[in-house]
Amino acid sequence: MPKSNQNKAQMNANYEILAKKNKKLFEMNRRCLFSDVGCTSKPINSHLIQKAAILKIADKTNHVYSFFSPSFNEFNRIYSDAVYLPKKISASKASTFKGFCNIHDAELFGCIEKEEIKPTPKQLHALHLRAMARLYCNHEGLSKAIDNLLCYKYLNELNIKTQLLDLADERKCRDRSRQRIIKEKKALVSTTESSISKMQSYIFLRLKEVPNIMCSAKFVPTFNFNGDILTINDIPKVSQFWCVTISSDIKGGYVILQWNEEDELIKQVVSSFCESHFEINKLLAMCMLFSNFIFQINWWDTLKKDEQEIIMHFAMNSYFKRKLNDLDVPRKMYKHFLSKKIRLVNWTIIDKQTNSQKW
Ligand SMILES: [Zn+2]
Repeated sequence: MPKSNQNKAQMNANYEILAKKNKKLFEMNRRCLFSDVGCTSKPINSHLIQKAAILKIADKTNHVYSFFSPSFNEFNRIYSDAVYLPKKISASKASTFKGFCNIHDAELFGCIEKEEIKPTPKQLHALHLRAMARLYCNHEGLSKAIDNLLCYKYLNELNIKTQLLDLADERKCRDRSRQRIIKEKKALVSTTESSISKMQSYIFLRLKEVPNIMCSAKFVPTFNFNGDILTINDIPKVSQFWCVTISSDIKGGYVILQWNEEDELIKQVVSSFCESHFEINKLLAMCMLFSNFIFQINWWDTLKKDEQEIIMHFAMNSYFKRKLNDLDVPRKMYKHFLSKKIRLVNWTIIDKQTNSQKW
């Protein structure tokens, strides 16, 4: 093998190790999140979306698709060819994370896994806590992974000083949001018994069918459902988090949006969703841009090539954002999606409920 290729092979092998090490960090949380209030047990694999719901959309071999954790080679393909394909994952492994010990997991989420979603204050708290826990674990894992990348001894010939500086900047930003996430996590854990959560306002949509795309996410939307930047007095502002759950319970499919009524910007987002007559396709596009989701293999296979491409781009928007150094990438992708008038699903809403005064 020529020497330059040897170097390349060695470099790839090193990165493969680094990628694997980083992937492990996402599964490494060693303490139940209730250690804040004295729990000393180790966390088990909690399901972000309950297994029973996932099994309803899994194929004959009990698998679904997701875009979780690119491997080193997939990561390279994202940057070089803009290709990022979904991966098969078994229903028992899909959407798991190490957040809670077995006692807390059963105690906390029985109300959303074994009972019909109404939703009660206890269920709203549980949905919020589960999405929060996943966000917290992901955030911690990714921060440690970035530390690994920053401390890694790269070969000089790589010439990646600028990328490393960008990454160091990102690390600083993440530190700021980390404090907010930790504070919110602690507050949620401490209010479990009273079921008081800041995200008390909700819209609940009962679906006629079990949704073939599922998610349970807490994220910050940076635009509304018309694709407009969020502003107060015409000045662009960043909103708080909100929660979106798309799943199924013992009765069937449902969608829940949860938010803090005091947040004016999130109210703009909710308002634009209602004005769009609860257009689920728009909601799905936003969830695909800002969160992890799992979906039915058969649904993906029946999509047209250009539709698959749009979803693939949604799933890798953070890589584009970094490469193009453009924070507005998600919104541009969303606008493109709107212009194509794509219908990803044709779900039917059979019931709507809300506790918000406005709708
Ligand atoms: Zn525990």
